[in-house]
Amino acid sequence: MDYQLLAELLYPHIKTLPEDMEKRYPPRQLPEGAKVTRFAPSPTGFLHIGNLYGAFADERLAHTTDGVFYLRIEDTDAKRTVENGVELIIETLAKLGVHFDEGAVKDGDKGDYGPYRQSERAEIYQTYAKQLVREGKAYPCFCTEEELDANRAKQEELKLTPGYYGEFAPWRDAPLEKILEKLAEGAPFVLRFHSDGNVENKFKFTDEIKGVINVTENDIDHVILKSDGIPTYHFAHAVDDHLMRTTHVIRDESWLSTLPFHIQLFKALGFKLPKYCHTAQVLKLDEGNKRKISKRKDPEFALTFYHAEGYPVAAVREYLLTIQNSNFEEWRIANPTADMESFKFSLKKMGVSGSIFDLDKLNDISKNVISRMNADEVYENTLAWANENDADYAAILAADPAYAKSIFAIGRGGNKPRKDLTLWKDTKDYVSFFYDSLFAPEYTLPAAVSADDAKAICQQFAAGYNEADEQTVWFDKMKQIAANLGYAPETKLFKKNPESYKGHVGDISMVLRVAVTGRQNSPDLYEVMKILGKDRVVARLNAMIER
Ligand code: GLU
Repeated sequence: MDYQLLAELLYPHIKTLPEDMEKRYPPRQLPEGAKVTRFAPSPTGFLHIGNLYGAFADERLAHTTDGVFYLRIEDTDAKRTVENGVELIIETLAKLGVHFDEGAVKDGDKGDYGPYRQSERAEIYQTYAKQLVREGKAYPCFCTEEELDANRAKQEELKLTPGYYGEFAPWRDAPLEKILEKLAEGAPFVLRFHSDGNVENKFKFTDEIKGVINVTENDIDHVILKSDGIPTYHFAHAVDDHLMRTTHVIRDESWLSTLPFHIQLFKALGFKLPKYCHTAQVLKLDEGNKRKISKRKDPEFALTFYHAEGYPVAAVREYLLTIQNSNFEEWRIANPTADMESFKFSLKKMGVSGSIFDLDKLNDISKNVISRMNADEVYENTLAWANENDADYAAILAADPAYAKSIFAIGRGGNKPRKDLTLWKDTKDYVSFFYDSLFAPEYTLPAAVSADDAKAICQQFAAGYNEADEQTVWFDKMKQIAANLGYAPETKLFKKNPESYKGHVGDISMVLRVAVTGRQNSPDLYEVMKILGKDRVVARLNAMIER
């Protein structure tokens, strides 16, 4: 067979050679041990927790080794491309603290190894495909859909492995004349890999996460270029990961089944194999049983969920590290305040079987993360969330930043900070009683207090309220009111002699809390009143009196 001639006939427009590509994309000059990783999604714009799991591992691996993390868009399937898909991907990940060093950007590329959209790399793929034809390692296949369907049906009937191999591979060693005939007719063809594998042969392979695994050789002549000259995933990733000098391919374990073919492809192309890292699936516990996290059943599947709910970026990152590296929690206990970026991420510590995603645990981490922030950080994050999700709330917060910050400062900074916020979304309810436009009181009084007493309490407190009072003076005034109205000024006294009193000073402060905040639970009432200011406090007391 004159492979040289065949190559020219199939791809006459390709004038470049692999060596031209090697020159165009030379090895990267990086420090010893630096890892080059990539995130390679289809531009559907939709990202899920599995994507984040992979992208985050990519990002950590590159950025903890002075390496490079780049974005490659796998858009060879036009059906899966949406407008703004690339932008959405970049934005969604950036909002979760995952940033690329190079790769596809909104309207083009950033970096020397582009183009980073596979749809713009046809010449590159065809250069290598043509070379494989020259070497007798790839051949055109003119089978029609009907012929392939008939093959499949026959294989099913005979309970044979499906695919293009052996007697089911009519074009595998077809004579040149037959091919020429088809080409002369202008018949469409795909380019197939001429596999030299044998399913009887097994070999050992080391995956960077799974460890040593047993692999069976591939004997199927998979398609590498479709009839329009566009590559399949298998071929495109081999060429791209080689030329973009990827050192570590981190991808979902569902790719393990085609790994034998990928190993063959790298060998046939004369490329050094990157390290493969197949990640376990993200699972959920559902009534005690493990199952795959699902788009349909679990809102937390989509990454947009985390933005809409308002999870702090640090919480999501911290949680991911918890499920990705088995030693992270231990490290966190030993280094409670350390920046998580200083944790040494390792592939070896990644789970081999599925990682369980637990929203309660994430919420817990989120509470801790927010409790460690100062008021300015809480304000900035809340405002950013509100700007995207709740314009009215954003306007309220932005109207008086100092006031909002004084609210968020309550209970912060000490060694036992309050942990009552889990999500930025929660803050609206938390701050609502500080703003008249959001104030929606529920006047539920303590059982011991009659409506008349409640009014009397508010009246007496309003009459004596002085913003300048120290906390003890402020509280003494409540004790005085208690005594005036037949309530015990100390809880102790009440406990000793409950029959002698209507209630105790705690009932007085509860009535005031309900009047001023509209609820029975609130942060420290003394601080709350200071922030609200005398006018608002008195107005709210009056509102209770006038009920
Ligand atoms: N485009 C492939 C996917 O979205 C990428 C797999 C890989 O990272 O190699 O699943």
